[in-house]
Amino acid sequence: MSDCFILLSAGKSKRFKSKINKQFITYKNKPLFEHSLKIAQDSKLFKRILVVTNKKIKKTKYKSVDIIKGGVERYNSTANALRFLKNKKIKNVYIHDAARPNLSINLLRKLKNNLKNNYAVVPYLNSENSVKYRNNNKINNLNRDKILLTQTPQCFNFNELYNLYKNNKEKITDEASLYLNNNKKIKFILGDKNNFKITTVDDLKYLKSETYYGIGFDIHRLIKNKKLFLGGVKIPFHSGLKGHSDGDVILHAIIDGLLGAMRKSDIGTHFPSNSSKFKNIRSKNMLSPVLKLLNHNNFSINNIDINLICENPKVSRIRNKIIKSLSDLLSVNRNLINLKGKTVEKLGIIGKEQAIACEVVCSLSK
Ligand code: ZN
Repeated sequence: MSDCFILLSAGKSKRFKSKINKQFITYKNKPLFEHSLKIAQDSKLFKRILVVTNKKIKKTKYKSVDIIKGGVERYNSTANALRFLKNKKIKNVYIHDAARPNLSINLLRKLKNNLKNNYAVVPYLNSENSVKYRNNNKINNLNRDKILLTQTPQCFNFNELYNLYKNNKEKITDEASLYLNNNKKIKFILGDKNNFKITTVDDLKYLKSETYYGIGFDIHRLIKNKKLFLGGVKIPFHSGLKGHSDGDVILHAIIDGLLGAMRKSDIGTHFPSNSSKFKNIRSKNMLSPVLKLLNHNNFSINNIDINLICENPKVSRIRNKIIKSLSDLLSVNRNLINLKGKTVEKLGIIGKEQAIACEVVCSLSK
């Protein structure tokens, strides 16, 4: 018997006035729904993860995840998920809205602990606002200390929820309503304020973040009998870039740009050229510690603009390959990376094809 995390990502986002369904808008570099998916995976609490969506998503990108079609309304999507899980030996299900991207592993653990002695556990917040209730034409006060604002994941014993769903005829807005309609007991636990729901485009504006910029520059001499690497891509050329590493000027400039925006000194400090540890290192391997720093400090990349300064190779021929490579290496959407080519009127060592230079500006959010 195992637990399953169900990510509901099929909503029509009626209140979210944007051409893209909100579950797929980019939030901190990723489609919104991927944030909860990653937390569920990282928590290692689930044998199964199920995404319910009406959008085609690339299966290859989410290997350990089942993807099924959603319904018209939320409760139809949940019903599809429960039917899919029938006979799959599921003990508990955690049903979560993709529109809550700031789910924490801590909350998942708390829910799991409470499921040991309960069939239904739902997180809630107290209301910070005074609440009124309209009944026909009369508006009544409600005692806000007795208001429970429910969040997700809402967690249930699979068999019990399955049976309630099977017999349900009403339109419900969440699974907790179904439980309450059937006079079933729910253990409510205090949720997490950060686990808020993004409902309208305006909600995104309130997610304040600070923006930082970093600049990077690099130049390496071209020498014969060495392979040329630019942006992590091997490029057929008469020479390669001289250096301690593979001399990839694009990656070196990006690393300096990222370190600059994070205010973490420079590439030479992190990878001293007198250290034999880094001799002949492929520059793409130098990226991972920098990306770790980025993640640990809660930065995300807004965009990267690159000037590659050389007479040859011609940037127009290698642009797409390099952007794809950078997008993979940095885990950043391709359309956030721009690569421009700049020749130097055959002037100086760059003009004589004896060197290649690169400059980069990186923008980060924290
Ligand atoms: Zn360099």
